[in-house]
Amino acid sequence: MEKVVIIRYAEIHLKGKNRGYFERVFSVNLEKSLKGIRHELRRMSGRYLVAAFDEADAEEIESRVARVFGVHSYSLGYLTESDMDSILAAAKLVCPAQGSFKVDTHRGDKKYPLTSMQLNAEVGAKLIEAYPALTVDVHTPQHYVYLDIRDGGKALVFGTFEEGANGMPVGTSGKGLLLISGGIDSPVAGYMMAKRGMNVEYLHFHSYPYTNEQAKDKVVELARILSRYAGGNTLMTVSVTHIQEEIHKNCAAELNVTLLRRFMFRIAERIAKRAGAQCLITGESLGQVASQTIEGMTSSNAVVTLPVLRPLVGFDKEEIIVRAKKIGTFETSVLPYEDCCTVFLPEFPAIKPKLSFIEEEEGKLDIDGLVREAVGTLEKITL
Ligand code: ATP
Ligand code: MG
Repeated sequence: MEKVVIIRYAEIHLKGKNRGYFERVFSVNLEKSLKGIRHELRRMSGRYLVAAFDEADAEEIESRVARVFGVHSYSLGYLTESDMDSILAAAKLVCPAQGSFKVDTHRGDKKYPLTSMQLNAEVGAKLIEAYPALTVDVHTPQHYVYLDIRDGGKALVFGTFEEGANGMPVGTSGKGLLLISGGIDSPVAGYMMAKRGMNVEYLHFHSYPYTNEQAKDKVVELARILSRYAGGNTLMTVSVTHIQEEIHKNCAAELNVTLLRRFMFRIAERIAKRAGAQCLITGESLGQVASQTIEGMTSSNAVVTLPVLRPLVGFDKEEIIVRAKKIGTFETSVLPYEDCCTVFLPEFPAIKPKLSFIEEEEGKLDIDGLVREAVGTLEKITL
């Protein structure tokens, strides 16, 4: 008998002909997530097993596996021979000595001599013999003993089913560049695209010296938390200080935000193309603030050719917050340091800016020169 973490995978099995590819990416991602922990990752028809680890690492393995997209559920349990004595020995370790319980058998090996019902009954009876304080409750038991009879004379025995992160393996849906601020929304947006299998790179705009080191550290921390789910090991930063100053000096104040966002998109597109990313990702949500109207989004889309994915577009702030808490970014996002957008914030930003007006105001600036200069400030921070 051997202690194992059993991993069942999610949508991958739907992918027909591409299944082999999806599974390869998935197992590479599992290996990456377990880096630094002694273990063996094994394949077992429709499941993966993490085995040969130190008892003390079990919890850490579970928490890392829980963050890997494509994992449908996971269980800590035992791999044994499928004869009755071996199954029973494992079941005794899994089942507490008192309370109500139920044995639940899945028979993957259809040639196994006992049916699922017979196994439930027999193992159940022997457990009660061993632990007289146990009672059977088939409807609402306090404890489950799951038996999964596999081919090749093996069985998996476990007591819990934990829900995984679901989604698709990161790396199976191309690559996107996340515009990450220090706020609540953009990290959640990155998480959601990664959940659909997208590799995420991180780009942050700062306005040093108007914004400080702490603001940057906060974004580094957010990207670090995200990278545990989404992969990626660098945060790129670009300064938009000069751009903000130029806009402030030369253009109508109500367009400050609109114009800055158009610059951000232009810069992001250049960097995305260099990084081999196929789209931009933002945390915008329709109507959340003045610049997140359909007119605002249209005006930023107009300066780029790459698609802009906005996975939060239809979400309420409350829904986003719930997700941010679950992902673990919320606490960091609400730290009080300003990111660049607040620095030159006008009192009354334009809500439905007209494209002709935008272009007229923008015409007062050396757009290409400013973009090039900003791209020149690119720095890479290892997460
Ligand atoms: P967030 O909570 O993600 O900061 P927000 O509600 O504050 O979003 P905005 O400030 O209008 O909204 O920003 C909208 C989106 O633009 C963000 O979700 C993010 O994708 C991008 N963005 C804003 N500021 C920055 C920045 N300093 N660096 C990189 N991207 C940014
Ligand atoms: Mg923000």
